[in-house]
Amino acid sequence: MPRRPPKKWFYHCVARVKQEAPEVTDPEALCAWIWYHHAKPATRRKILAEENNPEPTMEFHCVECDNYFWTRDLPSMCPFCGSKEIDELTGKREKIINLMKRAIKDPETPEHLKHALTKKLEEVEG
Ligand SMILES: [Zn+2]
Repeated sequence: MPRRPPKKWFYHCVARVKQEAPEVTDPEALCAWIWYHHAKPATRRKILAEENNPEPTMEFHCVECDNYFWTRDLPSMCPFCGSKEIDELTGKREKIINLMKRAIKDPETPEHLKHALTKKLEEVEG
């Protein structure tokens, strides 16, 4: 079974088609076609590699199961136990600060996590 087009690439493609070719009635279908029939295999591999193997840049700690794990984006839950109590952040300072600021602004971030992050940010930034 062919794998689905990578999300980021697909959304970007759809957005571009809508903007640049509003006469296209089904931009999703067009982008799927581009991915399966038009993109060169080397290009596809490169895009997939970038989206599937992001450089791990952040270390998180789960309070519930005491596991550490790496991820590029702020995780919504612990991959080991599913807990949302991830309150320790260590690793690359600047990236973490930016990430925390982004997460605090994000309306999707649960309130208790926002609160924990705001406190942590004050600590980290001094
Ligand atoms: Zn856990």
